Amino acid sequence: MLNNSQADWIHLDIMDGMYVPNITFGFPVISQINKVAEKPLDVHLMIEQPERYVTEFRDAGADILTVHYEAVTHLHRCVQQIKNAGMKAGVSLNPHSPVHLLESILPEIDLVLIMSVNPGFGGQSFITESMTRIRQLRELADQKNPDLIIEVDGGVSPDNVDELQEVGANAVVAGSAVFKSDDPKETIRKLKHG
Ligand code: ZN
Repeated sequence: MLNNSQADWIHLDIMDGMYVPNITFGFPVISQINKVAEKPLDVHLMIEQPERYVTEFRDAGADILTVHYEAVTHLHRCVQQIKNAGMKAGVSLNPHSPVHLLESILPEIDLVLIMSVNPGFGGQSFITESMTRIRQLRELADQKNPDLIIEVDGGVSPDNVDELQEVGANAVVAGSAVFKSDDPKETIRKLKHG
């Protein structure tokens, strides 16, 4: 269904039961998805010390690798590892982390993933304060990295996607809104085109 949809990427949430309470899946499942996926794999690591596994995720098929600001000790080094491995590098921020924390790393990265729910579980509702944070991040990116992709993850639906774009987001992740809808392909089309 996703291959035949207008989705640009396939977003995979990797959870380790440490950084977040939940556990999802790891390399063997990503590799299997990679065999059938005709779209880039956007891999979102909600794991402690993600720098331990950068090349393994690349080998499993990740095209974009996003780590959490809050889960990495040496962020700059980790971003270089991701880029040297040939992937696009993303950094994610939890709802409580101010966007200015990323000011110095912005020129180095391809993408910021703004969490608009607390990471760990699907089906949560959008934290409205995220709109302000996205706007602040877009202003910062205008100075530091105008090509920055601002991706939003959590509680995204056709109801709030226009406002997200207006405040500066240019990529959105949708799980429940797509997979729990009656017509997932049509929901993806709506997310992209309104
Ligand atoms: Zn995610």
